[in-house]
Amino acid sequence: MPHDTSSTRIESTAMSGNGIAWVKLSAIHLPLKTPISDAKVLTGRQKPLTEVAFLFVEIQTRDGHSGLGFSYSKRAGGPGQFEHAKEIAATLIGEDPNDIAKIWLKLCWAGASVGRSGLAVQAIAAFDIALWDLKAKRAGLSLAKLLGAHRDAVQCYNTSGGFLSSSIDEILDNVEQSIEAGIGGIKIKVGHPDAATDIKRVEAVHRRIDGRVAMMVDANQQWDRPSAMRMGRRLEQYDLTWIEEPLDAYDAEGHAALAAQLDTPIATGEMLTSVLEHVSLIDNKSVDFIQPDAPRVGGITPFLKICSLAEAKKLRLAPHFAMEIHLHLAAAYELDPWVEHFDWLDPLFNERLEISDGRMIVPTRPGLGFTLSEQARKWIRVEAEFGERP
Ligand SMILES: [Mg+2]
Repeated sequence: MPHDTSSTRIESTAMSGNGIAWVKLSAIHLPLKTPISDAKVLTGRQKPLTEVAFLFVEIQTRDGHSGLGFSYSKRAGGPGQFEHAKEIAATLIGEDPNDIAKIWLKLCWAGASVGRSGLAVQAIAAFDIALWDLKAKRAGLSLAKLLGAHRDAVQCYNTSGGFLSSSIDEILDNVEQSIEAGIGGIKIKVGHPDAATDIKRVEAVHRRIDGRVAMMVDANQQWDRPSAMRMGRRLEQYDLTWIEEPLDAYDAEGHAALAAQLDTPIATGEMLTSVLEHVSLIDNKSVDFIQPDAPRVGGITPFLKICSLAEAKKLRLAPHFAMEIHLHLAAAYELDPWVEHFDWLDPLFNERLEISDGRMIVPTRPGLGFTLSEQARKWIRVEAEFGERP
């Protein structure tokens, strides 16, 4: 008679001390120094951004291994992510933290009726990222090394110096500061109702950069198909590294037409919240640069699936936001990717990332290499604990 060992194995995991003993959730609201506007604000779709809501997850095993992960939301959704995480967190207790894929599915099934994308998987992302952090820490490796890195430093570009809320003089000052800091590219926002304003700002920044670093523009989904094509043609002369989100985030066909007809590469993907939504961009040949965001797509586990598909199609990668996570994931991507330099999250952590020669250096500290600062703990609005802290 075949011997069923599965229940014995589950028991031995819990007994061995490797099982997850304690999970803590914290909702942290990070205030921004100045309110931020992109084209979505200018067209009245959104209010200026004044803070970012984070869902932090801390996990500990019985034998004292720990992991830290986070998810986030801008404007609305933060409390929803926290509440969803609170409902499913207890399912982790006793699980073997090595079985990340199994745990991801378990968390997904725990809230299956609210779907496999959007806010539901963004709550799961914080757990998933904490589990990857834990696994890499226990191996004594940076996450990049655990995954299998192609490089020790990743091209990085400045993205917070060119908002529509900044004057052209402020942007030009930021260009100098950014180049001085060793950042390898500069992205500015476009998408003014008046195209001439965009062109004027792009022209001024292009002239100031003068070929010293790469330049990108980001329209934050504000153009329709004809406007995007017309603007894309006008922008060809500036030799941009990419045009980001020229169209609605879900317009895979529209992006495909731009990618086919323009020399300037097309980038999009930051607003998508699942692997399948990214598959639509890949299948439709919509992008030259794909821009997944690990907290938005459900964590590192789904992010890596997107990377495998994108790599097979020879797409370039430029993950959105959260450089603290994406630096490791980009280091493990084959075709020289870009990470987005945002210093917004600095107050949350004790550690800082280093930049040299246009590249962000992958930290060699185990895991993601970040610990929560005292200031971050002071910003905690709500918290919840599950299991027993060892
Ligand atoms: Mg963007």
